[in-house]
Amino acid sequence: MTRTALVTGGTRGIGAAIARALSEAGHQVVVTYQGNDEAAAAFTRDTGIPASKWDVADFEACEAGVAGVEAEHGPVDVLVNNAGITRDGTLHKMSAEDWDAVIRTNLTSAFNMTRAVINGMRDRGFGRIIQISSINGQKGQMGQANYAAAKAGLVGFTKSVAQENARRGVTANVVAPGYIGTEMVAAVPENVLEKIIGQIPVNRLGEAEEIGQAVAYLASDAAAFVTGSTLSINGGQYMV
Ligand code: NDP
Repeated sequence: MTRTALVTGGTRGIGAAIARALSEAGHQVVVTYQGNDEAAAAFTRDTGIPASKWDVADFEACEAGVAGVEAEHGPVDVLVNNAGITRDGTLHKMSAEDWDAVIRTNLTSAFNMTRAVINGMRDRGFGRIIQISSINGQKGQMGQANYAAAKAGLVGFTKSVAQENARRGVTANVVAPGYIGTEMVAAVPENVLEKIIGQIPVNRLGEAEEIGQAVAYLASDAAAFVTGSTLSINGGQYMV
């Protein structure tokens, strides 16, 4: 069945792979991004998937953005909250701005976007909400108190949304990727990356497509009995 799926931060990296996987699964996909028009245009050119620009950290922008998407493409039945940023630094040096930016973009965004679609999903009796968290939200990470807090926060948020909406046909789940070879990871110094790969039992970085396939499953009708769960995809680096 063709459904409309909205993927935040879907123009690059993991989000782009998720958008492609959902499209291959037969969904009508729309992606969002924040500022990189060039990447968005290239993505749309390659895939035919339209991209809309707004800041997921801004509540009103999310309300207006979702309304625009729904007017053009129909009700959003699948929401993937993927957009995220890092502003790393040890806590004793972390600025309030870096704390706020990471919490707002990685966690408050999930509230903003989910709030914008949840009533429609409840009314229609179907919905799939999928958050992209991180291994570092599960185990903590030096230099990422802000990011780990935001990514761990997504788990409690999702379990609550899952409980509130289970009887309305709406599931909510978390995917927690380990280290995936994207631009975000390319920013990690090479010697640090070597150490990280040494800690991954399968001895490689993950691929964005491996996250895309998992999200496509959670978005499917077949996953109707999966809700409130966290799927770790990390090559065995952290087992919970
Ligand atoms: P990228 O940096 O490659 O892409 C981020 C995407 O999010 C871009 O499309 C970007 O838009 C968009 N974005 C960022 N901030 C905002 C905002 N405020 N409003 C709207 N869109 C925004 O990220 P990755 O693909 O590496 O990561 C995707 C998700 O996966 C993130 O949540 C990340 O935390 C998580 N993750 C990544 C891992 C990895 O190894 N890469 C590991 C574990 C989790 P624009 O292009 O316009 O900037």
